[in-house]
Amino acid sequence: MNSWIKVARLAWKNPQLAYNKIRTTFKNEIAAKADYYFRQGTASRPQAVCIKLTNACNLRCKMCGQPREGHVPGEAKYAPREYFDQAVDLDVYKRVIDELAFIRPNLYLWGGEPFLYKEILELIRYSKARRYTVQINTNGMYLRRYARQIVESGLDDLIVSIDGPEEVHDQVRGLNGTFRLLKEGILAIQQIKKELSLRFPLIRVRGTITPYNFETISALIGVANELQADSLNFNWTWFTTQQTGIAYQKMMKQVFDTDAVSWIPFETDVILDPQKHYKYDGIKRELLRLIKSTSDLPISLSPFIKPDRVAEYYENIYETFGHKTCYSVYVKSYILPNGDVTPCPDFPDFICGNIQDDSFLSIWNGERYRKWRQELKKRKLFPACYRCCDLFLSDVKFI
Ligand code: SF4
Ligand code: SF4
Repeated sequence: MNSWIKVARLAWKNPQLAYNKIRTTFKNEIAAKADYYFRQGTASRPQAVCIKLTNACNLRCKMCGQPREGHVPGEAKYAPREYFDQAVDLDVYKRVIDELAFIRPNLYLWGGEPFLYKEILELIRYSKARRYTVQINTNGMYLRRYARQIVESGLDDLIVSIDGPEEVHDQVRGLNGTFRLLKEGILAIQQIKKELSLRFPLIRVRGTITPYNFETISALIGVANELQADSLNFNWTWFTTQQTGIAYQKMMKQVFDTDAVSWIPFETDVILDPQKHYKYDGIKRELLRLIKSTSDLPISLSPFIKPDRVAEYYENIYETFGHKTCYSVYVKSYILPNGDVTPCPDFPDFICGNIQDDSFLSIWNGERYRKWRQELKKRKLFPACYRCCDLFLSDVKFI
């Protein structure tokens, strides 16, 4: 089936998400660029606010770039217990939701594992009552437990990270039974939706292409169909190299007087290991299978990289596939589990304010946010940007 027909069917299922998609495209492609060229570091209204509800997670996935728990002084791959205990009071989030109700940016809830934030369901209900579009990105471990409340909350979009068929998924997630649990959870949600004659939440399967699952990427079509998913999306591995990481750390110290070590867990030599180059052929083969698939499922790739350019993505970090600067900082904002607000999801070193102390909008166009945008404009890209997901914000292509 033609990819446009598939997308139209998805849009019909959720007109609000379709409207948001159009709004996002407008914001990314036109408004953000206008802000970038014509303003001095300020931005028009945010299109998405992404709340990282917790740093805690119940899994230990092989490809995870987030710090693990442990006391290793000076080792950025680890963080102390307090880091995982951070949580903002629900009332503070409610204040932000009220403040932004006249804009209603997309609300994207993530973590760690977002369901470890105790009041997540109340947060969704509160936001839905104010007509926000709410999306969650989860590892799926709590779906079975909260299936009914999730459906009844009115959540729009449930994005579940899956790495492949059962055996591959469990291996990547580092624990047997994870696939079975998420499958039971999703099917329970599908069943409750049927009982209540509801279409929401839409179930979106998200696969990340990593060195651990590249041979079974196309098998996710079968998995997504089995789960009666509404769409299937693939991301690439986000990473840094030591060279770009050190350059970033140096630049952050010089320009922003900030100790920026968040890149360290994202440094990977697994993919770049010359002995592993045969993997690119495997990824290419699997991509071609996706492209040739006759499945009715809408399948997207973000960013869209042609199969014959896969090696470039991994081998030449400076190749940005036409993305010369980052517009995300004019479009999206990230709230961390301690309330800090930052422009960058994976490298949250530069903090522009805290929602516990200030209103969100005063931070969004505050002095520090403006400084970040202006400096970025001057340099086009920071060294950490090359394989950051938000550099490729608008590059989602249905195949
Ligand atoms: S579920 Fe997500 S946050 Fe948790 S370990 Fe896996 S990749 Fe990291
Ligand atoms: S591309 Fe760069 S500036 Fe943009 S969000 Fe990522 S790290 Fe931040």
